[in-house]
Amino acid sequence: MITERNGQTMVLVIDDDESMCEGCCQTLEAEGYRTDAARDARRGLKRISELKPDVVLLDLKMPGMPGMDVLKEIPAVAPGTATIIMTGYGTAQSRAEAMNIGARGYLEKPLTPEQILEAVESSLAALPSEPQATAQLIDGKAVAARVRKGIEEEIGSLKKKHGTSPSLLAIQVGEDPASASYLKSQRKGCEAVGIDYGVEKLPREISEEELVRFIEEKNRNEGVTGMILQMPLPEQIHADRIQETIAAAKDVEGVSPENMGRLMYGWPGIVPCTALAVMELISSTNTSIKGKVVTLVGHSSLVGKPLAMLLLSSAFDSATTTVCHIATRNLAEHTRGADILIVAVGKPGLVTGEMIGEGAMVIDVGINRVEGKLVGDVVFEEAEEKASLITPVPGGVGPVTTAMLLRNTVMAWKMQLGFDPMEEFKWTME
Ligand code: NAD
Repeated sequence: MITERNGQTMVLVIDDDESMCEGCCQTLEAEGYRTDAARDARRGLKRISELKPDVVLLDLKMPGMPGMDVLKEIPAVAPGTATIIMTGYGTAQSRAEAMNIGARGYLEKPLTPEQILEAVESSLAALPSEPQATAQLIDGKAVAARVRKGIEEEIGSLKKKHGTSPSLLAIQVGEDPASASYLKSQRKGCEAVGIDYGVEKLPREISEEELVRFIEEKNRNEGVTGMILQMPLPEQIHADRIQETIAAAKDVEGVSPENMGRLMYGWPGIVPCTALAVMELISSTNTSIKGKVVTLVGHSSLVGKPLAMLLLSSAFDSATTTVCHIATRNLAEHTRGADILIVAVGKPGLVTGEMIGEGAMVIDVGINRVEGKLVGDVVFEEAEEKASLITPVPGGVGPVTTAMLLRNTVMAWKMQLGFDPMEEFKWTME
């Protein structure tokens, strides 16, 4: 951590050679650094504990105590300090030893002023910046707006070239008052980017066979390029059978067994929108999941399982993924160590601040209504004190999921226009 005093960065030089101390201090002071010097190891360690310098320039060969031993003690005395070794007796072995102990640089004397400055500057650049008191918000609305803009432009240019439009047909069986607002927002979202939108309202008492025949007809109908089945369905209809009936190329929710199976194998196909939204949000922060520890809470077929497949996919550099669920014992044990914590459960207050590791990224998929307010599964006020990045609810995963439905609809259309799936489904990430 860079600790500036009076706006200056502090560098301590520890070297038994007086001219070396003076030369380093003058060079650094001329560039605006604050400096101090110590001529032996013990005095040097004392000054480190008093000053907590940002950088220590440390000689290796000193009477009384070797610089390598000082290097070992520095983290306990001043954990945020970067140490650069300076030596007139450099060997590959001592360089390796110093770097293994934690040195940020290893310079061999004689040294030019430029070498000293460059080493100090690069050691400072490698230091972690001051942690933020509260997490930065990952703005789902902004991410969704960017995605929608890209979709709108793509549809515009493809329409001109191919003379057709993408279309989304929403299938509603029976009347459900809650569906009305979904349908309205689907229409608005589609029409804003240039997707034709239609709703087919079927009677509540329709038989499963009749519904299957209806969907099979739409599978053949070239005017319908995407279909979405509104939930809930009446008792006599089995959602699985209907989802299986929708042609994989028109299944814009990515829930058909064929699309789910393709995801499992890492083959090109349409992926469930919320899983894609989470990946898009992570990617919007310029965070690579490579080598990261990701803990996912929730293993539903619609969210958790497809998301786990994406996280494990080599297309995203395969995170080390832990999936927790209702039967997981001691959830906190799994959540605390995560670099990225994703929660998709539907239980407000499930994840508290103490369950989150310092500096983690938190993606809260949960949507719950508590006393008339929408909240996620994570206690936001506590989480923002621990996390470095966090999605709000509302305004996080939700808007990006809606944008992913539009993107999937365009993908389905493009497949039907004859685009190469291998090219198009690079996991839809930009
Ligand atoms: P679901 O009910 O199908 O699955 C819930 C999951 O949570 C299961 O895997 C279950 O094992 C796990 N779980 C339940 N209690 C748990 C506990 N105490 N500890 C650990 N795990 C537990 O739900 P879903 O469809 O996956 O949705 C999850 C949440 O995400 C819901 O709040 C839903 O509204 C929300 N959601 C949001 C979006 C969005 O766009 N933001 C989209 C889909 C779902």
